[in-house]
Amino acid sequence: MSGWKYTLAATRAEAEALPDAADLFDDLPSPPTLLVDEPDPDRPDDWLLAAYFDGEPTADVLTRVEALAPSAAGRGTLEELPDDDWTTLSQRGLEPVRAGRFLVHTPAHADAVRPGDWAIDIEAGLAFGTGQHATTHGCLQALDRLAKGRRRRNILDLGTGSGVLAIAAARAWPDAAIIASDIDPVSVTVTRANLVINRVMRGRAAGHIELAVATGMANRRIAARGPYTLVTANILAGPLVAMSREIARAVAPGGDLILAGLLDFQALRVRAAYRRHGLIPKHQHPRGEWPTLVLTRPVRPATRGTTGRRRRQV
Ligand code: SAH
Repeated sequence: MSGWKYTLAATRAEAEALPDAADLFDDLPSPPTLLVDEPDPDRPDDWLLAAYFDGEPTADVLTRVEALAPSAAGRGTLEELPDDDWTTLSQRGLEPVRAGRFLVHTPAHADAVRPGDWAIDIEAGLAFGTGQHATTHGCLQALDRLAKGRRRRNILDLGTGSGVLAIAAARAWPDAAIIASDIDPVSVTVTRANLVINRVMRGRAAGHIELAVATGMANRRIAARGPYTLVTANILAGPLVAMSREIARAVAPGGDLILAGLLDFQALRVRAAYRRHGLIPKHQHPRGEWPTLVLTRPVRPATRGTTGRRRRQV
């Protein structure tokens, strides 16, 4: 059976809502594989949505795909894929991504791994985080930089998506105890599969990753395991600011927080929110419009300006 691809232009909001569509096609014997792509960094709002099918899709199914990107008003492009082995085709476009010592690749690109790489095998799928996006890339660079410093024993990856950052942390600190959470149960299912593929054990012990479905920090296990020597949160500026108090609190003295998902013009606001809760900026990885912030909780709280009364001069 030949493969078919249906491509639609999509807005960023539509693309970002796609994980919600995970089970939309569950009634089909062979549900399509959905991928989103941000084609041109200079036009960050113009995304593409591609649906890959086993065999020619019916008009009815195409209409259902079109409903995921209403802005395209049904103007998609349907093409038959030339290759018999089309399932690998959907991943061929996803080139391996290098960020410091990390190499994130799909199974089709396993041959890109070089000795010494911290390789992470992530199947292109519905959960966000194949390393292609600037925010994931920035977080991986930040992890690589922190991994040149001291050991981390207790790590939280909030909004884990495909599990990419949690697995990256396990590569960098193999004996760390890690918990990875997501608000979206599909992400947690995908992450569970990615742990198996990447030979990372699931569980609570050192060297393992525990998984949780949770909204932000509101979870018994996340609370019980804190405070953390490292927290990663690649979400979006709005929720990062809204949750700044809870997230900041979970960072141990001397611990670090990697934040991404914010746009360049939002960095000031996000930094200010976390500074209010005792975290100070350490460094920033500029990746075009999607910077990654690394903040730290000083071992001793910073003193704010001068506190004593000014001595009157006589
Ligand atoms: N960490 C991955 C994925 C980032 S995408 C990476 O760096 O590539 C952001 C993820 O955060 C999504 O999987 C989304 O479901 C999750 N998310 C969004 N809001 C959240 C919240 N309030 N609590 C937990 N997870 C959240």
